[in-house]
Amino acid sequence: MKLLGYTGGELSGGTFYKGEGCSSCRQTGYTGRTAVHEMLLPDEHVRDAVLKNETTHVLRKISIESTGLVTLFENGIYKASKGITTIEEVLRCLPRLVPPRPLAEIKRLLGG
Ligand SMILES: [Zn+2]
Repeated sequence: MKLLGYTGGELSGGTFYKGEGCSSCRQTGYTGRTAVHEMLLPDEHVRDAVLKNETTHVLRKISIESTGLVTLFENGIYKASKGITTIEEVLRCLPRLVPPRPLAEIKRLLGG
């Protein structure tokens, strides 16, 4: 929870799994690949920030606040909550640039 940036309760409503591993997956518990996505649809706040040459950190913050951008890290948490991957894999592969929002909020933004 601490590594995710959560203090407790933020992951309620998710079903998390971790594969035990077998000979087919070379004891990893994983099979195949999945993609994580982050899509920015710039609104006037983002466009203004770009024109003002704001830093990427500021652009990200504005995008999250004003356009409902779901970050790669949050998309990974969402996929882990559906059993598509694990929290360990999210922490291993994805940058945690800003603290993630609670799972319920991520689900709302992604439409369930
Ligand atoms: Zn296996």
